[in-house]
Amino acid sequence: MAHQGFSVDRINTGEAHSARVYDYILGGKDHYDVDRDAGDLMCQEWPALPIHMRANRQFMHRAARYLAREQGIRQFLDIGTGLPTAPNLHEVAQEVAPDARIVYVDNDPIVLTHADTLLTSSAQGRTAYVDADMRDPDAIINSPEFQRLLDLREPVGLMIIGILHFILPPDDHRLVQRLLEPLPVGSFLAMTIGTADFAPEEVGRVAAEYGRRGMQMQLRTRAEAEAFFDGMDVVEPGLTQVHHWQPDPDQEPVNDRDIAMYGAVARKT
Ligand code: SAH
Repeated sequence: MAHQGFSVDRINTGEAHSARVYDYILGGKDHYDVDRDAGDLMCQEWPALPIHMRANRQFMHRAARYLAREQGIRQFLDIGTGLPTAPNLHEVAQEVAPDARIVYVDNDPIVLTHADTLLTSSAQGRTAYVDADMRDPDAIINSPEFQRLLDLREPVGLMIIGILHFILPPDDHRLVQRLLEPLPVGSFLAMTIGTADFAPEEVGRVAAEYGRRGMQMQLRTRAEAEAFFDGMDVVEPGLTQVHHWQPDPDQEPVNDRDIAMYGAVARKT
């Protein structure tokens, strides 16, 4: 498959990658032995990991639906998209608003090879994929896809879901702020933030396992998570564990101890 800027050399099948471990645990099909070994070990350390990951993904669905339906958001910037997993963000948003436009961003070459699946936009809408790193936000903002698809006179939904734990201090706040900067007032930030507040030992072991495999992870307390939304209008019910954020009536009940992720949606003022 020919992709601009893509090199097969960038796919490292000798080391586990976060996108592929996530895909494996969510029941996807795009992973290698190293990713399965890592995933199996992490699930031994913390058997709730698949429940936690599904709840994170479902938060993304509810937040996107809320932004499209309740707030009229028609354009989204999705940082750390991951491997395609139905429904993807554009499918959720375009079900509400077929003209919704989505710019996807990830730095994993495997995600890039599957970008075609993310580019199956509705006829009225548009989607694009940017191969870039959140730690270089200017590369994202200056990309032709960002410039072409996003109309910065209209509010944007910035989605930072299931990735902030890979973004380490001290740059974490600056990077989130830099991505919000070009977006107009009335834009929204939907973000999930990994925490060990509810199962410190188990989640600590999983984080250590990721760290041993070269994927350094930063877990955050409630206060640290809340600080990312300082100066914004946080929508109801505020920052909660992801499964408690505007739950669907038919949502399966889960135990708080099984969810190591805070989530919130907030409006730029
Ligand atoms: N947002 C999706 C996927 C989360 S998995 C969801 O919540 O379901 C985390 C993703 O972030 C992976 O695909 C990984 O490749 C990507 N990622 C990790 N660090 C990144 C970085 N510095 N820049 C861009 N993407 C990154």
